[in-house]
Amino acid sequence: MRTPRGLARLPRAYIPMKNAIYYSIAAAFAEEVGAGQIIGGHNRDDMLVYEDTSDQFFRNLQRALRSGSDRLRSRRLSIWRPLRRMDKASVVSMASKLGVPLELTWSCHEEGTEHCGKCQGCRQRKKAFRDAGVPDPLR
Ligand SMILES: [Zn+2]
Repeated sequence: MRTPRGLARLPRAYIPMKNAIYYSIAAAFAEEVGAGQIIGGHNRDDMLVYEDTSDQFFRNLQRALRSGSDRLRSRRLSIWRPLRRMDKASVVSMASKLGVPLELTWSCHEEGTEHCGKCQGCRQRKKAFRDAGVPDPLR
């Protein structure tokens, strides 16, 4: 199997076609409620690893979703990714300045009621908060 972005091995958190599945569900919901936009939280760091967060992937996906629904096409459904040019630390910094309740965010790839602190998501979260100089309310 080819790995995303030519990595030697798949990241443990890799889920094949994750974003195609999630955004298809979001598009179905958008059609039902009459929404014209789907907003995703992917950042620049995600795009370095996962092909299904790339600009090209979203251009093609948006086109495919529109082509499968007259209602989405007529609303010119768009997928907006406002964080796509920011790294994780910049996202944390901005969120902190905006007063986002960071204690309610979830980064862990494991199941449970608390972050495991060991998985890739937890390690990236720890690094992002440290790089941003923002104390993580979960630690
Ligand atoms: Zn974790």
